[in-house]
Amino acid sequence: MPMDAATHARDLRVTGVVQGVGFRPFVHRLALRYRLTGWVRNVAGTVEIHVEGAPEALDAFQRDLRAEAPPVSRIDTLASAPGTLEGLLAFEIASSADADGTRPVPPDVAICAACEAELHDTDNRRYRHAFITCTDCGPRYTIIDALPYDRVRTTMATFEPCTECAAEYHTAGDRRHHAETLACPSCGPQLWLESRDGRRWAYNDTAVHLAARSLRGGAILGIRGIGGFHLACDASNDVAVQRLRARKHRDAKPLALMVRTVEEARKLAQVNDAEAVALSGSARPIVLLRARNDAPLAAGLAPGLRHIGVMLAYAPLHHLLLDSFDAPLVMTSGNLSDEPIAMGVDEARTRLAHIADEFLMHDREILSRVDDSVVRVVDGAPMLLRRSRGYAPLSLALPVPAPVPMVAVGPHLKNTFTLARDGWAWPSPHIGDLENLDGLAHWHAAFDRYRNLFRIEPQVAVRDLHPGYLSTRVAEELGLPRLMVVQHHHAHIAAVAAEHGVTDPVIGLAFDGTGLGDDGHVWGAETLVADLRSYRRVARLRYAPLPGGDLAAREPWRVALGYASLEPGSEAAFSIAYEGVAAEELRIAQRQIARALNAPLASSMGRLFDAAAAVIGVRHRSGYEGQAASELEALAGDAVSSPIVMEWRAVDGCYEFDPVPLLATLGMRRRGGEPAEELAAVFHDSVVHAAAEMATIAAEANGIGVVALGGGSFQNARLQSGVRRLLEARGLRVLVPQLLSPNDGAISYGQAAVAAACLAAE
Ligand code: ZN
Ligand code: ZN
Ligand code: FE
Repeated sequence: MPMDAATHARDLRVTGVVQGVGFRPFVHRLALRYRLTGWVRNVAGTVEIHVEGAPEALDAFQRDLRAEAPPVSRIDTLASAPGTLEGLLAFEIASSADADGTRPVPPDVAICAACEAELHDTDNRRYRHAFITCTDCGPRYTIIDALPYDRVRTTMATFEPCTECAAEYHTAGDRRHHAETLACPSCGPQLWLESRDGRRWAYNDTAVHLAARSLRGGAILGIRGIGGFHLACDASNDVAVQRLRARKHRDAKPLALMVRTVEEARKLAQVNDAEAVALSGSARPIVLLRARNDAPLAAGLAPGLRHIGVMLAYAPLHHLLLDSFDAPLVMTSGNLSDEPIAMGVDEARTRLAHIADEFLMHDREILSRVDDSVVRVVDGAPMLLRRSRGYAPLSLALPVPAPVPMVAVGPHLKNTFTLARDGWAWPSPHIGDLENLDGLAHWHAAFDRYRNLFRIEPQVAVRDLHPGYLSTRVAEELGLPRLMVVQHHHAHIAAVAAEHGVTDPVIGLAFDGTGLGDDGHVWGAETLVADLRSYRRVARLRYAPLPGGDLAAREPWRVALGYASLEPGSEAAFSIAYEGVAAEELRIAQRQIARALNAPLASSMGRLFDAAAAVIGVRHRSGYEGQAASELEALAGDAVSSPIVMEWRAVDGCYEFDPVPLLATLGMRRRGGEPAEELAAVFHDSVVHAAAEMATIAAEANGIGVVALGGGSFQNARLQSGVRRLLEARGLRVLVPQLLSPNDGAISYGQAAVAAACLAAE
């Protein structure tokens, strides 16, 4: 470009999710559009741009930079300053420079529409290539070893691009200009089918066709994907589904399904607009959908529930397999029961050999274990139930910046941890339950990856109040200069407030199964007046003993027995709850209550749902945490009912709501022959009204107009939606969890938000 008086130079710095999402090639295309010269480069987490040209062209360039940024990028800041004219003749993508700084790592991105079209185009040289990607799509976090994001620092480094791929990489304007993951059938990773004894017997296309044939025959297939292995089987085959459950030791938890398109999903379930958007977004989470009665599916996919989890194919391999199989597949995580998901080839051969009949393997290594994310749409808005693949490792803002780098180690179950520095928090992908050495090893591996990728050396560890949790031991063993403690339900409410950027006091309804309270009892039905730094408990449920302790979470009849013990003479109303329970078992539990031995006191919404399920005869024992509550919600459906008012009284400055009369009434009405469906609806509406009362009383007494809903119970759409509507009708502003789960997956972020605010105030 000729230099003249009208030529100016400008330097731009862009932060956000701008690496690994096609940002530099996009900048290059824009520069060509406006005939600008200069360069673009990645410097750690920042994209630096130097452009030279006419002032109007520079303005237009800067405007479009924001307006047309690639779909999966996210611009947090865009700084611009006059630059020094270098008299450059062309625009180029400079090699990456390394430096310190906050370093966003992109999440894994589902195959884009352009790549999907090429995958099915017989004339394209990547026709049916299972590893097709471009600057806009493909694996990222799971294959990135270090930043800056360049092929040499990913697991694609071992695949030397062929001449044709190299040419695309270097051609400005090509869809694969600077696509670090690009590959083709002649230079890319290989796919193969392997029997459970380790024999490889088919490759690439043949492997896919034979795998589909095995699935049609009822086989269980282990499939290496993006963040680890899936276990797949024919979703319409009852026998295969039962076999998968038996081998995986997963008795009742729902199994997710995979199809190719929203239209295919509509044959299985009702899909509204918001759900269609969630399904087809670049993160491709599992979306909970209301199942159709006429769906061609096996019976045992989601026992007792009305919703099924469906996701769309997100890796090219999924498309190829579904093209061959041509029907919905069960796609559940590749693990035994609650163990971490398997990701390595050798690891799968050992850990999944007793579950899968065959494996569809490939040799593109996975560095980070990442499970599928789960989304539920409530009142038209998506809510993450599990934030993992496609979202992690993106950052969330912290409303009060962390004065020193920190790690919040998270809770006992459904663990995630969160790294934090300055105004940002990086919640980890779903880790799972920290109950054994496998879980612990997974935690440490993910923590090391995060620490290296983001170059954060935490100085503070934040843990839960419970002294006995493994997560507490983890926090202590990190040996950091400072250890802070945050109560579980305070963390729940802080997570929701922080997600919405709220630092003023709120009324928090924290409803879940369990968390240690500061009075030493089990909490889980709490109304708090809280800000990020502190909380005060203002309302709760009446305490009831849980005979058998932890066992009570799996055996709802025990909770019912605990409630019945509060009102001598109410035994008859609760009798349905113990049907089928051995007399000896019942007697031991009664003795535990009478002697207050192994019968901890609980104020827990999760347990109240269990008790309700037991007294109306829905469930006496649970296969997984929250099963009774999920089934009650499914039973209630949208049925209209009249709530039963829950009485309350003031005890030690705390409003105590008494659910015993409600449970007794439900039990008597069930014994009188009322259908369980109706009573499930009555129960929901009664809890909704009690919750709204708790929040309203607290809001009025404290002059607060904002209510935050947190805790696993709010995964229940009827509960969340009902409480929200009542409170909004009373003029209160209601904050609900969206970016993070209502459940314990959000605890670590809440812990970080609290610790940051406390430290900042010191
Ligand atoms: Zn693509
Ligand atoms: Zn190639
Ligand atoms: Fe919780």
